[in-house]
Amino acid sequence: MELFEKAERLQQLPPYLFKEIDRKKAEVMARGVDIIDLGVGDPDLPTPPHIIRALKKAADDPANHRYPSYSGINDFKEAVTQWYRERFGVELDPTTEVVSLIGSKEGLAHLPLAFIDPGEVALVPTPAYPVYNIATIFAGGQSHFMPLLKENSFLPDLDAIPDEVADRARLIFLNYPNNPTSAVAGLEFFKRVVEFAEKHRVLVCHDAAYTEMAFDGYRSPSFLEVDGAKEVGMEFHSLSKTYNMTGWRIGFAVGNQKGIEGLGAIKSNIDSGVFQAVQMAGIEAIRGGQSCVRDMIQVYTRRRDLMVEGLRDAGLEVELPKATFYLWIEVPGGYTSAQFASRLLEEAGLVVTPGNGFGEPGEGYFRIALTQKRERLAEAAERLKAMRLK
Ligand SMILES: *Cc1c(COP(=O)(O)O)cnc(C)c1O
Repeated sequence: MELFEKAERLQQLPPYLFKEIDRKKAEVMARGVDIIDLGVGDPDLPTPPHIIRALKKAADDPANHRYPSYSGINDFKEAVTQWYRERFGVELDPTTEVVSLIGSKEGLAHLPLAFIDPGEVALVPTPAYPVYNIATIFAGGQSHFMPLLKENSFLPDLDAIPDEVADRARLIFLNYPNNPTSAVAGLEFFKRVVEFAEKHRVLVCHDAAYTEMAFDGYRSPSFLEVDGAKEVGMEFHSLSKTYNMTGWRIGFAVGNQKGIEGLGAIKSNIDSGVFQAVQMAGIEAIRGGQSCVRDMIQVYTRRRDLMVEGLRDAGLEVELPKATFYLWIEVPGGYTSAQFASRLLEEAGLVVTPGNGFGEPGEGYFRIALTQKRERLAEAAERLKAMRLK
């Protein structure tokens, strides 16, 4: 046996499909090209100052220097509970139905360890945030992929899942507003998910990282708003996108008591919770004035409008998204996603994410993240028009 051979679970990881574009980006950059990176889903805007002040104050208090309580301090869980009541009309018990997370990715990645035994199935959307599938693999499980297609408004077709697979499934992952397609889901869809979960006895795991990043007055519902949802599911939330706090690592999961308990049991044996000073800052984010969120939405609305118009002028097909800071754009005829992403990089110095990197049905699309200033987006739009794609 080779020395330090990696475990099977690492060898099972799907191929990293952005390698080629990463290599090209380094090459083009080395040529001194002014690159505009529209690839990263990480807000360029700073965390609002009142949240930073709360962190500084809490960091000075020695009471916050010790191990935090594993599931989160009561005030944080109370703040989450109050927010769910006011924002979604959903009642939660802060002691049994809320757990703090070191970013929602951490919770999503640990959940399958609590509910998937080797060989068991998770229902996983594709294209998607890679964590759902990878965490399933790490738990020894198998993903049954649910394609998100344009003709179904990028919602999974639950009727297309064979009964035999659905009955074996332990978890179903969902994410609306969606990364990468920017699609949204309404209560009608969530109702069908609850019926499906009741029938097949699967735990619903809804990743709701983008509910607050919505435009033109659109209100993203919580999955837990549906009657019976809490009996079958849980929801994962993050402060990362709402408050520009990706580096801080704070999120939370709420909902089904068994789900929260299982996730908590994994976490208490692996990590020791979120730094209390960060939780205090999180409380300030959730409870403090929300004008920072309205400002953020305004910034992204203007960027979205500018970029969608630019893309359409350049001859590309794109929907005006109701939520998220992503644009999911159709690749013009005759190119694969990877080929077109390469062309954008070579000819226009634009980094975009080829859609197939999020899963095979993402082929034929590319994703743009609106995480650059307006001037840079305007420049990107000019370069696109100069490519004469029409
Ligand atoms: C950004 C993002 C998250 C948030 O991750 P954190 O770990 O909370 O920073 C979760 N899900 C999706 C789909 C995302 O795009």
